[in-house]
Amino acid sequence: MDGMMASLAIEAATYVVLMVVFTLLAFVSRGRDAFKWSPELRQSALTNVLMLHIGGLNGVLYLLTIVPLISLYHTVGLPVLPETAWTHVPFVLKALVALLVYDFSMYWVHRWLHTSWLWPAHAVHHSDPELHFLSWSRGHFIEQFVIAACMVFSSTWLGFGIREIFGLALLQGLHQHYVHARLDWNHGFLRHVIVSPQLHRWHHAEVEAAYDKNFASIFPFFDLMFGTYYNPGSAIAVPTGIGNNPDNNVIALILHPFREWGRMLAERKRVSAAAETA
Ligand SMILES: [Zn+2]
Ligand SMILES: [Zn+2]
Repeated sequence: MDGMMASLAIEAATYVVLMVVFTLLAFVSRGRDAFKWSPELRQSALTNVLMLHIGGLNGVLYLLTIVPLISLYHTVGLPVLPETAWTHVPFVLKALVALLVYDFSMYWVHRWLHTSWLWPAHAVHHSDPELHFLSWSRGHFIEQFVIAACMVFSSTWLGFGIREIFGLALLQGLHQHYVHARLDWNHGFLRHVIVSPQLHRWHHAEVEAAYDKNFASIFPFFDLMFGTYYNPGSAIAVPTGIGNNPDNNVIALILHPFREWGRMLAERKRVSAAAETA
């Protein structure tokens, strides 16, 4: 119980720090406009926090996911680089290699999440009509499990342990909050090195030319390498969200993939029945 209270206190403090940091960044970017939260934005922010705790994997559940996944990796006997492989490698370089391997894997997992049968689970993250720093918290537990598995498998293979994996997950999580923030920054000469808020906003854009673009989480050069890089300029005014949008209804968001899969199965049945009678 004490552990649970401590965990909730840490999460509450984290939200306060994130709020202060991202409001300051927005102030630098947009001036006093940064302090104006429309009713839609407030509703979206509340939904995203609730989604993290009800429909996603919060810190405690994440811990309960990562630890069993690491055990599963070792129980199955998947390969692990020997510890001696890192003996002469500085820690920063080791962390950079781990982030590169993670992001390369995540690039392909993200492309996979955009294909027909997995899209309903990932669409929950894309459903936010008011993209802002808390939008990263809007993710369905199915998708969050896939992301956690990607982090665990790519890092365990390199010989990383639980503490190192949590360190990477924390770094990656902070960067994800940043790329969803309401900032129109493109990182100038570093725009092909590290994903910017502008680049990721185009990934969420409800604009046909931007569909299935900018899959990389951290390193945009993966998008350049695989032909999915797209940044025509300012993204702050582009609409975001999805077509059949459950908007800010938490229950509808949690049920969304199951409803969509039901609809897709019914459609598949209808098409094959029509083909049989033809
Ligand atoms: Zn996506
Ligand atoms: Zn996103």
